Amino acid sequence: MNRLRQSNRNDGFIKAKKSLGQNFCRDQRIPEEILRRLNPTPQHHIWEIGPGQGALTEKLVKSGASMHLFEIDERMRPILTQKFANIEITWGDFLEISPERLPPGGEHLLVCGNLPYYCGTPIIRRFLEDGPMAERIVFMLQEEVSKKAAAQCNSSDYSYLSVHTSFFARATVGSTFGPDSFIPPPKINSTILQLEPLQLNSAEREHRFYALKKVSPLFQQRRKMALPLLKRSMPETNWPARFDELGIDHKARPENISPEKFLALFSPPQP
Ligand code: SAM
Repeated sequence: MNRLRQSNRNDGFIKAKKSLGQNFCRDQRIPEEILRRLNPTPQHHIWEIGPGQGALTEKLVKSGASMHLFEIDERMRPILTQKFANIEITWGDFLEISPERLPPGGEHLLVCGNLPYYCGTPIIRRFLEDGPMAERIVFMLQEEVSKKAAAQCNSSDYSYLSVHTSFFARATVGSTFGPDSFIPPPKINSTILQLEPLQLNSAEREHRFYALKKVSPLFQQRRKMALPLLKRSMPETNWPARFDELGIDHKARPENISPEKFLALFSPPQP
């Protein structure tokens, strides 16, 4: 904590870089909740993205699970290698690491991180769409992103991200923490998001990717009724009949249509 406090005075200690989304954790309740939700056993393997100076790592390592860290900021090297001499670290932008260069996730992979705000959504997307398959994922993200990811149909937060997430995982929102829980304090609140990825076969995954392509343009006009939008973009389908079959109101807006109904509406054409 002293090191972090001093770092903000830029007196030779590590100064938080805004461009890397560095808001270091100072509130012990955050690692405690992440650990509780992740629920690791010694059989698990944990990937932590953005360990920074190791605020979460210190707690996670006590679980006895093996760990792998991914950090972009080489200035953390002396701290992390000294504190966690036995933990492997991949240096660089997590989103730029090609699938072949990722370490093996193993059978019981858990993923976590207090993520930088600027790349929270693409990191979630990477795990849900490309894998590797994790048993559980627990991230600290900006409040808006966590709430949107876990939002239910008909709520004000329900959005494309909600549909995307629910196609590939069960999502639960955890506690919200204010700016004072971090050094330096960000301008907005942060909320924990827990994801349990769904086991899907390749046909089911293909169906979801296909449906997402059709759902995306609808949410770009979320205040408009979905039926006229669909009639215009895909006139070959009898959409009023499809809506009737699925019990969807003809006046429904995208935000009123559940992920299950979207999946039923949009099936890939059979060969
Ligand atoms: N886990 C630490 C904590 O809670 O105090 C640091 C959290 S800080 C919000 C985000 C961390 O992610 C920083 O250490 C930052 O350098 C790292 N980071 C930022 N962008 C990254 C990226 N693209 N790939 C990997 N790490 C990244």
